[in-house]
Amino acid sequence: LKKIAVLTSGGDSQGMNAAVRAVVRSAIYHGIDVFGIQRGYQGLLNQDIFPMTIRSVGDIIQRGGTILQSARCLEFLKPAGQQKGADILREYGIDGLVVIGGDGSYNGANKLSKLGIKTMGLPGTIDNDISFTDYTIGFDTAVSVVVDAINKLRDTMSSHERSSVVEVMGRHCGDIALHAGLASGAETILVPEMPFDLDEVADRMKDNFARGKRHSIIIVAEGVGKGEDIAQALKDRHASIDARVTVLGHIQRGGSPTPADRNLASRLGDFAVRKLIEGESGKACGIINGELTLTDIDLVVNSKKEFDLETYNLALRLSQ
Ligand code: ATP
Repeated sequence: LKKIAVLTSGGDSQGMNAAVRAVVRSAIYHGIDVFGIQRGYQGLLNQDIFPMTIRSVGDIIQRGGTILQSARCLEFLKPAGQQKGADILREYGIDGLVVIGGDGSYNGANKLSKLGIKTMGLPGTIDNDISFTDYTIGFDTAVSVVVDAINKLRDTMSSHERSSVVEVMGRHCGDIALHAGLASGAETILVPEMPFDLDEVADRMKDNFARGKRHSIIIVAEGVGKGEDIAQALKDRHASIDARVTVLGHIQRGGSPTPADRNLASRLGDFAVRKLIEGESGKACGIINGELTLTDIDLVVNSKKEFDLETYNLALRLSQ
């Protein structure tokens, strides 16, 4: 292995920069030339490829977003685009590629691997929706953004005896809602993986208020529905429920990555390079029970992440 490249793709997440830094510095440490590809697979097809040095990744470990930028690339969804990408990498003499992104980006890496390019996937997405890893890069920061917002909402809510419906990201995966809900003592956590009954939610809120609870937080993953609709549905059931809605949106993707995300990204980035050197390809890097792991990317993109029922039940037990 002489030359590798790194790209970030799909939705950006905090910690992608720390991962890029780790890939670049680990490669150089091992005597391998490393190239950056700007704007994901689109940049690959546009040959937006440039050499990176130790210094090109200086002062980025603390920054959100990605210095390599990200993009969605329709052309790469087609076999002709994928072949073109593999040909371009060969032209540059690049024999290994590290792809940092979510599920879609992993699919792209899988296709390149089948075309003979050595690929490694790093889980870069705030949603934590990738299987065969306990955590994705960006998830911890996104959860901390939500918890910070809820802390602020609590201050104003208890002054006015109100409820808050907080809509967070997660179309198919409720992990942000679950972990932020547990950490912020939410009364109700609605996630796409679990059925729920709004009658019961509304009754519980009413009873809790009657028993002296001064505020309540209902955290809703976007895959369940709009926060506005949930708030209206609760009010329709009990007119006394005065639920204000906060949609956190893209601020969940912003901000300086937490130490946990920076360290996860650093460990995974270095691991990906070492495994490429060892000859591995078509693999996704992850962390399971604290150990770094390698799984066939084909298996990862074809498995649905198991929902963490134990944590969900814990949150329920503590939300009285
Ligand atoms: P996030 O989960 O944060 O949205 P993602 O990586 O899943 O991130 P996508 O937009 O789904 O984001 O994928 C990023 C890019 O990966 C796409 O624009 C496309 O270029 C490529 N890609 C996605 N799916 C495939 C596929 N099935 N085959 C080849 N390339 C793909």
